[in-house]
Amino acid sequence: MKYYNLKDNHEVVDFKIATIKSQGSQKGLFFPESIPQFDKEFMQNLHLFSDEEIAFRCMKDFIGDEIPSDLLRKIAAEAISFDIPLKKISERISVLELFHGPTLAFKDVGARFMSRCLSYFLKDQDKKVTVLVATSGDTGGAVAHGFYNVPGINVVILYPKNRVSAVQEKQLTALGGNISALEVNGNFDDCQNLVKQAFSDEKINSELFLTSANSINVARWLPQQIYYLLALKQWRQHENQDPVICVPSGNFGNICAGLLAYFRGLPAEHFIAACNENDVVPDYLKNYQYHPKKAIATLSNAMDVGDPSNFTRIMELFDHQFDHLKSMISGYSIDDQSTLQAIQGVHEKYGYILEPHSAVAFASLEQYLDENPEKKGFILGTAHPVKFPEAVEKAVHIKLEIPEALNELMKKEKKTVEINADFEELKRFLLK
Ligand SMILES: *Cc1c(COP(=O)(O)O)cnc(C)c1O
Repeated sequence: MKYYNLKDNHEVVDFKIATIKSQGSQKGLFFPESIPQFDKEFMQNLHLFSDEEIAFRCMKDFIGDEIPSDLLRKIAAEAISFDIPLKKISERISVLELFHGPTLAFKDVGARFMSRCLSYFLKDQDKKVTVLVATSGDTGGAVAHGFYNVPGINVVILYPKNRVSAVQEKQLTALGGNISALEVNGNFDDCQNLVKQAFSDEKINSELFLTSANSINVARWLPQQIYYLLALKQWRQHENQDPVICVPSGNFGNICAGLLAYFRGLPAEHFIAACNENDVVPDYLKNYQYHPKKAIATLSNAMDVGDPSNFTRIMELFDHQFDHLKSMISGYSIDDQSTLQAIQGVHEKYGYILEPHSAVAFASLEQYLDENPEKKGFILGTAHPVKFPEAVEKAVHIKLEIPEALNELMKKEKKTVEINADFEELKRFLLK
C-alpha cells in the first residue's frame, strides 16, 4: 500500500516510510491511496475467525509485504493480547471494553502495534531514534509502555502540567530508562504544536532521527480498525440489526479508523462523535463551519482537543462531501455536569461503572437513541474507571479498587523536566 500526504499529494510513500516519518511535508498526514475492501465472506462470517486472524486480515492490505506475514500475524496478535469484551449495559446500549491492556486504556492496541512495526523497520538503523509524542493523558502511558526498553529507541513525552490524572501521570513519568517526560506549562494543543514544530526543525532533524507515536502515525491509527471488527463479531451474537457506533472523540483518530472500516465494508447503521465541551466537530456538523478553538480542561481530559488532527482524514474519506458526512455521523457535546450525571445514572440503573470519557459516549448515544428509538448501538469504553478515580468517586460515592499492578506504579517516583510552551526550550532539551 502507498500513502499520500494530504497537504501535498505528490508526496507518496510506503507503509515503512509513513511509519518512520509520521507526517509528510507541511505537517501533512498520510492517507492510504486506496481503500481495500473486506472480503464479503469474511465480513459475514466473523464468528468463524479467531480474534488474532481478524486482526491480521484487517491490517494485511495496508502493509502488503513490507512486514513478512508471519511476523505481522504475531504483531497483530500481540497488539490485542488482552480481553476486549462487548458487554450489555442496558437494553439498547452495549460497551466494548477496550481498557484491559497494560495501561488500562484503548491506546495500548495502537501503541503496541506501532512500537513493534517501528522496531522491525529500524532494526538496522545506527542513528539513535527518538519517539517524540504529545499526550492529553493516555497516549503517553501507552507509548511509554509500548516502547519501554525497546533497544535503540528513546521516547520523549510532552504532557500538559496539572491536566492529567494522577494515574496517567505516573504511567508516563515513573518508568525512567529510555522514557523521558516533559511537563509543559500549557494545554494539549500547545504540546501538540511543539511536537509539530520539532518535526519541521532542520537542526533537530539533522542530529536526531525523530519520529512520532501520536494517532497521526498510520501505524497507530490503522490498527484501531480492529476494535470495530471485534465488536461486530460479538454484537452479532445477540443482535440482528446493524449497530449505531458511538466513539468518545478527542483527536478523532479512533472514530476515523471506525469510519475507514465502514468504507471497507463493515456494516454500521450510524456513527456518533461524542465530545466533551471541546465541540469543534459537533459544531461543524451543525453549522458547516470548522473553527478550531483553544482546548478547555474537562473531566474527560484525553478528549480536551481544540483542533483535532484526524479531522482532515475524515474529510478525505468522505471525499469532502459534507452531506454524505452529515448523513453518516452525528456529533454531541456533553458538559462535565452531564458527564457526572451519566456516571451516576448508569451506576444506579444498571450497576455499571463508567469513567468520564465513556460516560460522554453513553450520554451521547442515549440522546441519539431517544431521537431514533428503533435503533441500538454500542459505545467504545476507552479507559478503565480507576484511571479517573476523582470523577468516578464523586459521581458514585464508592471507593474503587485499585488493581495490584497500579499500586506498584503509584509508589514509584515521578521524574519530569518542566518546560514552558516555548519551542526553544524543547529544542534545548532535545539537543542537549
Ligand atoms: C485518547 C482518548 C480518547 C480520544 O481518542 P481520539 O482517537 O483522540 O479521538 C478517548 N478516550 C480516552 C480514554 C482516550 O485516552
